[in-house]
Amino acid sequence: MRLLVVEDEPTLGRSVKRGLEADGFSVDLAETGTDGLWRAREGAYDAIVLDIMLPEMNGYEVCRHLRSEDIWTPILMLTAKDGEYDEADAFELGADDYLRKPFSHVVLVARLRSLIRRGTSPRPDTITVGDLEIDPAKLSCRRGDTSIELTPREFAVLETLLRRSPNVVPKSELIDSVWGMDFDGDPNIAEVYVGYVRRKIDRPFGTETVRTVRGIGYQVAVKR
Ligand code: CA
Repeated sequence: MRLLVVEDEPTLGRSVKRGLEADGFSVDLAETGTDGLWRAREGAYDAIVLDIMLPEMNGYEVCRHLRSEDIWTPILMLTAKDGEYDEADAFELGADDYLRKPFSHVVLVARLRSLIRRGTSPRPDTITVGDLEIDPAKLSCRRGDTSIELTPREFAVLETLLRRSPNVVPKSELIDSVWGMDFDGDPNIAEVYVGYVRRKIDRPFGTETVRTVRGIGYQVAVKR
């Protein structure tokens, strides 16, 4: 298993590398965002451990670049409690998982192994409802000939609803799917994001793709 670790704190970077090597991984270490991006593009890694606060280019940008170039190597982001970004943002940033510093080596290895297992599953094809089409591999969305920009979180909301269509998705299941089982924030976030999605995929087109099923959740019904 080949890993790329992008971490600018030399002591932490070296100790993570040593620990992972002791666990049988082969590890490259990059100390800046640009070097990390370059290596991630060139090397065939099974997973990337990516710090967020990095010199030259932050982890967020590295992640965004890779995904926009269709590089889907699983990314585990390292977040700091007092950092500019926190774990609530990690998925929004395109990461597959996150770990908060300081972390235990055992947990790091377990999360990496599970990421690598998941990472081998093929990316799904496009999903279509009427003239609305999303491509989960490219995070792209279009209605007819018009392409629609969605944030990763908005995309995840729409993807969840489309995959379950024409079933009703209970609000709690939408939250589990998009924000994770551990989410303990305000459940109204689902309503807020469904609103964002509607504003982009429905309102400009005079359509009603996402219906609210009062007291239960949301539904994308296919019109016959
Ligand atoms: Ca850092």
